[in-house]
Amino acid sequence: MNETLKFLLDDAAMPRAWYNLVADLPVAPPPVLHPGTRAPLAPSELEPLFPRAVIEQEMSAERYIDIPEPVQAIYRQWRPSPLHRARRLERALDTPARIYYKYEGVSPCGSHKPNTAIPQAFYSKQEGVKRIATETGAGQWGSSLALAGAFFGLEIEVFMVKVSYQQKPYRRAYMESFGARCIASPSMETAAGRGILAQHPDSTGSLGIAISEAVERAAQNADTKYALGSVLNHVLLHQTVIGLEAIRQFDRANDYPEIVIACTGGGSNFGGLVFPFLGSQLRGGPRVRAIAVEPANCPTLTQGRYAYDFGDTAHLTPLMKMHTLGSGFIPPGFHAGGLRYHGMAPLVSLVVDLGLAEARACHQRECFEAGLTFARAEGILPAPESNHAVRVGIDEALKCKAEGRSRSILIGLSGHADFDMQAYSDYQAGVLHDHTYELADLERALAALPSAE
Ligand SMILES: *Cc1c(COP(=O)(O)O)cnc(C)c1O
Repeated sequence: MNETLKFLLDDAAMPRAWYNLVADLPVAPPPVLHPGTRAPLAPSELEPLFPRAVIEQEMSAERYIDIPEPVQAIYRQWRPSPLHRARRLERALDTPARIYYKYEGVSPCGSHKPNTAIPQAFYSKQEGVKRIATETGAGQWGSSLALAGAFFGLEIEVFMVKVSYQQKPYRRAYMESFGARCIASPSMETAAGRGILAQHPDSTGSLGIAISEAVERAAQNADTKYALGSVLNHVLLHQTVIGLEAIRQFDRANDYPEIVIACTGGGSNFGGLVFPFLGSQLRGGPRVRAIAVEPANCPTLTQGRYAYDFGDTAHLTPLMKMHTLGSGFIPPGFHAGGLRYHGMAPLVSLVVDLGLAEARACHQRECFEAGLTFARAEGILPAPESNHAVRVGIDEALKCKAEGRSRSILIGLSGHADFDMQAYSDYQAGVLHDHTYELADLERALAALPSAE
């Protein structure tokens, strides 16, 4: 079966359990530390922020964790997501490579993010929570949690980075359509927001600031929990439905990828796609070359340090060992808003540190160029974030051509661009530039890393 592969109606390909890479890693992940005492965090210390079931998953070393039936029932609306063979792209590139893409744009919000929004809302509801506070940068995560809140009857409060709030009114309208409340961050509603505004009245916000506001809201209200759309172990765990399905779909196609590529913002779609393949490799299965692709303007894995750092700007979160540019680093503006985070998932950082995956950084214009090549061949306009994976997928396919060798390449297509057409307008109008950050800003942010080893 090597024409376009679609198993949308094939329930058998949908996993009944998520996969936890921790069970198969050769080392235990470094512990998360208390921001004050710098001692390993006890699970109970996270209870003000997360439902107990989520905390258990965050710290679990079990290989498989059952997906609750009500979550499976919602997943079935769009899962299994399709694995396509990109035949027309192969022809356009004139490459002997076999290019596949796993497409998460079929979810109601157009990205992979509902894969974790749904279970996070489910566990909150189960534990009697009334409200979830969260942050959103470009708007994809806020939209996904808004949807999940509507399904489970939860109030959703979204602190949206002010610059996006102003530039993306349709994203806000989308969240509000599902009943969420959307607040421009920094706001006057939290001490963290008021503190930033007192110092920088014109602040256009950042993901780190919005996280501080949402965390503060949850910590101070007993009926409110917090939800994060990436970075944490449980988020990557929920996203493994992507890779687990892909393995079954490849099996049906009598193929297996030699190279697996995904973009990395906080690391969740990368972990979700790649970890099941790495797990299989660690248990003696076939090797894969895993490539994490990040924006050159927020080069966490390629230029950051692997060290303990805070997840937010106001330093309210626990310390995690991860690749980081420093929590004070504010990347220059570019269009892949979902990739503008100073840190990286601790599990993705560990996997890169162990040499189980490699990292690459790409500039935004080369990514948009690749996105248009992909769109004109395959008919899907990738999200600006996904273009990073497409860029490297195309580069690897062209390498196959130069070497006269066929390889199987899997691209994680994390979402479509239907909400991000401004980015494509700017690219086509030639007004997108590859600005780079100031090295001094990065050095300053790295020098301010907390001491903890
Ligand atoms: C949020 C987002 C990303 C980046 O987040 P990860 O946690 O690194 O996956 C990538 N692609 C799309 C479409 C997104 O919405």
